Amino acid sequence: MNAPYPTRSFDAARSPLRILIIGGGIGGLALAQGLRRAGVSAAVYERDRSLTSCLQGYRVHISPGGSRALHECLPPHLFDAFDRTCGKPARAIHFMTEQMRPFLSIDADMVKNDDAIARHRSVSRVTLRQVLMAELAELHLGKTFVRYEERGGKVVAHFEDGTHAEGDILVAADGSGSRVRRQFLPEAPLIDTGVAAIGGKVFLDEHRARLAPQLLDGMCLVSARDGVNLFVAMQEVSEPAGAIGRNEPGSEASGAVFENTRGYVMWGLGATRERLHADAAEHDPAKLAAIAARAVAGWAPELRSLIALADPTTLSHFAIRTSTSVGPWPTGRVTLIGDAIHAMTPYRGVGANMALEDAMRLKRALVAGARGERDLFAAINDYESAMRGYGFRAVRNSLRAMRQSVDAGPVQLTLQRAMFRAIDRVPPLKRWMASGMGRD
Ligand SMILES: Cc1cc2nc3c(=O)[nH]c(=O)nc-3n(C[C@H](O)[C@H](O)[C@H](O)COP(=O)(O)OP(=O)(O)OC[C@H]3O[C@@H](n4cnc5c(N)ncnc54)[C@H](O)[C@@H]3O)c2cc1C
Repeated sequence: MNAPYPTRSFDAARSPLRILIIGGGIGGLALAQGLRRAGVSAAVYERDRSLTSCLQGYRVHISPGGSRALHECLPPHLFDAFDRTCGKPARAIHFMTEQMRPFLSIDADMVKNDDAIARHRSVSRVTLRQVLMAELAELHLGKTFVRYEERGGKVVAHFEDGTHAEGDILVAADGSGSRVRRQFLPEAPLIDTGVAAIGGKVFLDEHRARLAPQLLDGMCLVSARDGVNLFVAMQEVSEPAGAIGRNEPGSEASGAVFENTRGYVMWGLGATRERLHADAAEHDPAKLAAIAARAVAGWAPELRSLIALADPTTLSHFAIRTSTSVGPWPTGRVTLIGDAIHAMTPYRGVGANMALEDAMRLKRALVAGARGERDLFAAINDYESAMRGYGFRAVRNSLRAMRQSVDAGPVQLTLQRAMFRAIDRVPPLKRWMASGMGRD
């Protein structure tokens, strides 16, 4: 549904459009790259002081849609650097029991397409950030947004260090805890699902020989009878492209979590907080290792050893949160992209791809407004109403996937496994299932 918006309130012929982007994560940086490529003035304000201050997850799956958005936003040489520094493609995706008995295996050929641009990719988060930050002249690090105000037909962003910046449109790209959203849409809450996850990295140069071959095929999903689930993904490294794909200076101070030049298998263990017996504030690596080991105690030795082999400095623990549908709101000088508006659980691995989709679509709207091809606010309004549709659908789907995984009782799990076994035996059904993977 479309919301009201001011008409004829921006005259592209009189002054050039100026965009303020709060947050230099995946969505905000992709938007900045797209605007820069189109010649629209944009500045990014990011609270982190360096590339290695924060990492949400380890590698990221980029879907055909996310790849298309990156291709549109990045200049060709940076898209090429992104493409060259992605991990090697997966060979297969295995769904298995906690005793490591596969009940469905999807060959990568079924998921693969021949499109050189719009295809599945796996990229290190550090590398992706290096690509997205490259060549951005107006990237202000160490700028923590506090609040905004509208005055004199402009929007002004205020930062923790007492400085401010003025523009025509302010874009909230500040992630799930968005301060911009809290001011703009105070009725839009972020809900704790009660599910927690522990993740870690096992480096291949040290431990490849000790890992079961299936765990090295690409991706494995394990659902256990007690509601504990495990996601395993392989990330091999490619040759760096200049500075892209190398380690950031000083990153070794944070342990191996930002290590960007060694291949690894990452795992993520999820369950309700009560089942994991993990306090939300627990970040001590030794305690996290003990919690993870306890959660997989009766599992196959190969899976227990995968958990035990993680480098302790890479272990992290986070609460899984979700947004709920909001809007429509009156379109104005503040708009939102990515997790700032539709934060979702990581259970379908599409949040970053949604942020990229938003960046591409909002970029198109802002460019059309800047060039006087469309009324600026009408174009933003169209973006917002489409984004609410696909964004909140992805939120609901990822929440359903999480609930099916952590809440399935023994009967449901037996039925699920029987259904997957049946799919495994019928190639057209398998192809149909494969075609829906990583899409929302
Ligand atoms: C474990 C895990 C695995 C995941 N795996 C996948 C996957 O494989 N595929 C996928 O598509 N998605 C995945 N996701 C989801 C994905 O990481 C997010 O959806 C994505 O990062 C959202 O991008 P964003 O730009 O909206 O926000 P973010 O990437 O979170 O960026 C927000 C930025 O804003 C900055 N910021 C925050 N507050 C302020 C402030 N006050 N002032 C200035 N700057 C601020 C932050 O420092 C950050 O840099 C995963 C998530 C998790 C937790």
